[in-house]
Amino acid sequence: MIEKDRAEFCAFHYTNETDGKCTLCGLTLCNLDQQYNIAAERICQLCYNISRARKLIKYFQFGLWGIAIAIFIIIWQVTDELNLFALIPLLLVLVFPYLMRPLIMKLYFRELSPKESVLPIIRYFEASGNQDHYKIFMKILSKLPEEEKSEIKTKLFDYLVPALAFNYAKLPEEWDTELVEKLKMSKDEFVGILLSEYRKTLIQTAVHNPQENFSKFLIYLSEKAQDKDLLKEYINEITSKDVISSTDEELNTIYNKLLEELYLYEEKFNEICDELKLTKQKDLIAQLLERYEPPPVPKNQIEAVLTIDQLKEKRRKENEQPQVVISNPNDEQQIVIE
Ligand SMILES: [Zn+2]
Ligand SMILES: [Zn+2]
Repeated sequence: MIEKDRAEFCAFHYTNETDGKCTLCGLTLCNLDQQYNIAAERICQLCYNISRARKLIKYFQFGLWGIAIAIFIIIWQVTDELNLFALIPLLLVLVFPYLMRPLIMKLYFRELSPKESVLPIIRYFEASGNQDHYKIFMKILSKLPEEEKSEIKTKLFDYLVPALAFNYAKLPEEWDTELVEKLKMSKDEFVGILLSEYRKTLIQTAVHNPQENFSKFLIYLSEKAQDKDLLKEYINEITSKDVISSTDEELNTIYNKLLEELYLYEEKFNEICDELKLTKQKDLIAQLLERYEPPPVPKNQIEAVLTIDQLKEKRRKENEQPQVVISNPNDEQQIVIE
C-alpha cells in the first residue's frame, strides 16, 4: 500500500523513473545503476559495496590474526615464558571490527553521494529496525545540502513514513525533535504532513498490514496533532466489515498482528472508545478479542527455540492426538540448554 508511490522512482536517483529492482535488497533502480553480482544478477550500489567491503574486512581480519599470532609467539620465545602482554595483539584483533566501524561505513557508502544514499538507508532501517541504520540516516540527512533537502522532500516522506511507522518502538528517545530539526521544519508541520498526505495509507496499513506498535504510532500522531478523528477513523477501520466478517482462521492469520495490538493495549483501546463514545466499536473489539488465539507460550527451553508457527503446529498436533502422559519424577526439573 505504502509501497505504491515509491515503486515508481529510483531509490538512488529519485528524479529518474525506475526500470528494475536490486535482486538482493529490492530497492528500485534506474538505467544509471549497472552493478551485477557474480551470478550476473542486477544489484544496487549499496549491496555491491557491502559485499565487497565484507570480503575486504575478512581478508584484513585473517591478516591481523596472522600478525597477532606471530607477535604472540615471538614474545613467548623472547621472554621464554607466557607473558600477559603477548595477549594484547590478540585482544586488538577482537576489538578490530568495532574500531573499524566508521571506516566500514565509508566503504559501504563508497561512490554514493548523500542524496543517493538517503532513501536507501531509510529502506534499510525500515527492513531491519536496526538503530545503527537510523543513526546513519540521520548523519546522511545532516550532510544533505538545503536545496536538495527541499527538492527530495516528498520522496523522502514516501520512504520515511513507513520506516517510522513500522519501527516506532525502535526509534530513539526524542527522535521527533532531532528529526524535524534536521528536516528544517516544525513538529506541527511534520505531523501535519503525515496526517494530511498519509492519513488513509497509515490507517489502512495499521489495520490490514500492521507491525508491532503501529497503534502506538497512530496514538502518538493523534496526540501531537490533537486530532481525535484519526483514532476514530482507525477504530472504525478495525471494526469494519472486512475485519469483522472474516473467518476465525483468516482473523488469526491475516489480522494476527492487529489482534496482538488490541490484546496488548486492550485498556488503551477501551479508554479511547469511551472517550470518543464509540460504544458499538468497543463491543466489536471485545468480540474480536474473544476470537483471538494468543500465540502459545513455550513450556520449556526446548520449545523456546521454536518459532510461533512451529509451536502452533505442535500444539495443534498435541490437541489432535489423545495425550499419553508419562509421569516423570524429574518433571519439575527444567532442562536448561545454554
Ligand atoms: Zn541492493
Ligand atoms: Zn538510479
